Amino acid sequence: MEETPAAARSGIVYLVGSGPGNLELLTLRAARLIGEADAIVYDHLVADGVLDLARSDAEQIYVGKESSNHSLPQNELNLLLVRLARAGKQVVRLKGGDPFIFGRGGEEIETLVDSGIRFEVVPGVTAAAGCAAYAGIPLTHREHAQSVAFATGHLKDGTVNLDWPSLARPRQTVVFYMGVGGLAEICRQLIAHGLPANHPAAVVHSGTTVRQRVVTADLATLAARVEIAGITAPALIIVGTVVRLQAKLAWFHPT
Ligand code: SAH
Repeated sequence: MEETPAAARSGIVYLVGSGPGNLELLTLRAARLIGEADAIVYDHLVADGVLDLARSDAEQIYVGKESSNHSLPQNELNLLLVRLARAGKQVVRLKGGDPFIFGRGGEEIETLVDSGIRFEVVPGVTAAAGCAAYAGIPLTHREHAQSVAFATGHLKDGTVNLDWPSLARPRQTVVFYMGVGGLAEICRQLIAHGLPANHPAAVVHSGTTVRQRVVTADLATLAARVEIAGITAPALIIVGTVVRLQAKLAWFHPT
């Protein structure tokens, strides 16, 4: 079919959160849209089995690992979505977890807005919620934490640039995404800004999946424990006295 202005108007991009890795945690809306899509643009954090829900004739485009050199640069990815929608396609842009939490979802839809492309955002279970639930670590608890903060632990030039005084407050849980490479630095900074060295902390690897592993320790010892355990990304760091509850509340034991 010739590309016409009418066809251009009929294209749409769904920015879909695919949850933390367990297929069952996909929303009904995500599953329905994946099953209907003409084109699916996805990266490495998409749960096993999600793409099996796609139509067999759907175009599946892998756009790579965020931290690797092989990934499509963000501006090219934004333009790819525009091009597919302009061709009249129903496009699903799949993101791990929730698209608006460390997912660059805002950047991707800004280009769509600027290009006049219709879009919808479908929230997903973010890694913090999924990992906390499956590790048995409530993020808030009346006796432990009245607030929870999500932070990126991504290392830049060997340091993590964050508002440490606010993250080191008592009676708060802090969840670091993308922090496993900077774990030792994160723990050091939290202690330097006032948290006790024996403050509880955990790392959850591949939470909600059969590969889930949980390491609990304290700020002084977590980095060494995680290294010995050979834990790699994707992993989430949870800091707070709520981590103490894990010993009693853990319920998910993948074999
Ligand atoms: N938008 C996503 C986060 C993308 S950033 C969300 O809302 O969850 C990628 C980081 O998320 C990873 O480096 C890791 O810290 C975390 N992450 C995603 N899935 C995870 C999982 N199953 N287990 C542990 N951490 C996970």
